Amino acid sequence: MKNVKNHLKLIFPSLSENEALARLAVSGFLAGSGADVSVIAELKTAVSEGVTNAIVHGYRNSFGLVTLEIKLLSSGRVRIFIKDKGAGIEDIEKAMEPLFTTAPEEERAGLGFAIMQSFCDKLKVKSTPHKGTTVTMEKYIYKRNEP
Ligand code: ATP
Ligand code: MG
Repeated sequence: MKNVKNHLKLIFPSLSENEALARLAVSGFLAGSGADVSVIAELKTAVSEGVTNAIVHGYRNSFGLVTLEIKLLSSGRVRIFIKDKGAGIEDIEKAMEPLFTTAPEEERAGLGFAIMQSFCDKLKVKSTPHKGTTVTMEKYIYKRNEP
């Protein structure tokens, strides 16, 4: 934990109302870090997409726990993990293609991963069918007044 300045781990059940909780957790956690508001807004949106995916796709036919973990590193980066133990993803590469969705009937656009990708510096997805999915995001949080 030497290079970790601050750390939050939140575990909540796969209820849609917890998407708002996850967004609030991100802004609350980053509030004291001096991060620019635009960085906080982007990370809130990226986390919201990841948590929604865990709830609506991961636990589509089941119910379980979602873990959201945020680490503020001394390098000025923030690393975020979103983990579910749900359905998992068969073909990660395909799932990450913009506009690909397995739920078009629910009017999903297939843009969640594209949004996460555009708002983060790094995005990694690890998934095993029937075991679950872990999404890792990393972003440098430039400070207010920093160019
Ligand atoms: P949108 O995010 O625009 O509402 P979407 O959720 O279908 O639509 P993405 O977020 O890009 O689009 O995800 C693409 C696909 O990847 C999903 O349709 C789903 O099949 C799969 N997927 C994403 N996250 C998970 C997850 N945690 N568990 C299982 N499948 C997932
Ligand atoms: Mg999505």
